[in-house]
Amino acid sequence: MTRLRRVLALVATLLIGAPATAHAWSNHGLLTYWTFKDTAEVASAPDVQVEPLDTFLRDQEQAIANLLDAQELWARMNVPTYPPRPDDLAFKADASRDDAARRKAFAEALRIAPNTRFALFTQNLPGFARNSATTMPFAEVSTLREPAFSMMRFFRLEPGETVPALLVLASSSDEPDFGVDINCWEDSPSEWGKRYKFGKLPFGNPALDFATQAPFHMGFYHQSWLIYRAAPFVARTYPTLRAHQFIGLARLAFRTGHAYWGWRFAGIAMHYVQDLTQPYHASILPGVSTLRMIAANTVAMIGWKGPKDSMVVLASNRHLAFERYEALLIYRDTAAGGKAPMIAALQDSSRDKTYPAWSDLYLRDVVTQESFDFGETLSAALLSAFPPKYVSDPSYDFGASGGSGALIAEVAERTPQQRAAIEGAVVELMGHFGAHSRNMARAVGATRPPNQ
Ligand SMILES: [Zn+2]
Repeated sequence: MTRLRRVLALVATLLIGAPATAHAWSNHGLLTYWTFKDTAEVASAPDVQVEPLDTFLRDQEQAIANLLDAQELWARMNVPTYPPRPDDLAFKADASRDDAARRKAFAEALRIAPNTRFALFTQNLPGFARNSATTMPFAEVSTLREPAFSMMRFFRLEPGETVPALLVLASSSDEPDFGVDINCWEDSPSEWGKRYKFGKLPFGNPALDFATQAPFHMGFYHQSWLIYRAAPFVARTYPTLRAHQFIGLARLAFRTGHAYWGWRFAGIAMHYVQDLTQPYHASILPGVSTLRMIAANTVAMIGWKGPKDSMVVLASNRHLAFERYEALLIYRDTAAGGKAPMIAALQDSSRDKTYPAWSDLYLRDVVTQESFDFGETLSAALLSAFPPKYVSDPSYDFGASGGSGALIAEVAERTPQQRAAIEGAVVELMGHFGAHSRNMARAVGATRPPNQ
């Protein structure tokens, strides 16, 4: 047991000491846009008419109630460690209540933050010119503070307006990072956290709002058995729940003639799938063996804390530096018109069929297994290509210091051999991202006209 307790202490430090790990890919919208831009079923899907969420909820109230009940049964049977939803949170049809009450009941039945904006918005995506008068502040789209390094811009949509399906799908693929999963835990400083009965925040600091979303955006399904034995909270991650909920809602919306919400829910569900293609969201410590974790912790217990503290800082730095690099690359390549290896990788549909058919277990058995397995390669590539300060210096904190906005130039200064591994890793991971996004869209049925 002593050994198990040591692992527990280490895992706890790792997960609690790295609160900056709540976001994955820094701009899902652009990546999703390029993924589907030339996918005929999305790019040539009929334009959709914008409507407020309340219209869909009012119109399909009983069907939504039935769907959410079925989803609850599914979750109880299929999501390991699932804390059942209290029965009093079930969504019940009630035509007499007002829109605000219905929307709150809907959020509570899903156990998402009831103040989620669900604003009518688009992101600034190529080819969709918007009037600058419709610019929308971050706070109208998200309940979180705007990140210091944010390149996203939003525009308001009006009910009744007609917009391309691709614009809706891509814009909403960032939405779960806008406050959907905030403060849903018993120890969260929120009115709803206590009622949701998800238990205490499994890892991270409950006082940091963005840290509370992590267990819905990460999936630790492939650690060694020793880790789960020692630290059972590692198994309490729920991205499969969120994907299932929003895929079901997307199908319902498409089926009932609410295509705007069909694409929108599909984009929301897709976010969870995409997050899990990031190896740092599918592994506690990519590239580090359980044995090394134990060794670092053991020497920490006899007074040599260096290796363990370093491991925590370095994991967080590598995670953040890699995401910053990816964000800078996709903005650069988008501005240059999209002819770039990473965008070609996103659009390479030849690999879609190499994966098993979509199923309830796809996220666990396919997506996270693949990204967990890629962790070691990614970690080695980061060490080879990035300036050592960002990935090998435990006295440097990438998150706290604001990191670097010049990573592309800094990596370009390395030798071609040093760069090759990270260039290959980005292309490989964008391939995963694109293929799983398309496979999910096919599973939703979004890539078929809704009446077929
Ligand atoms: Zn996320």
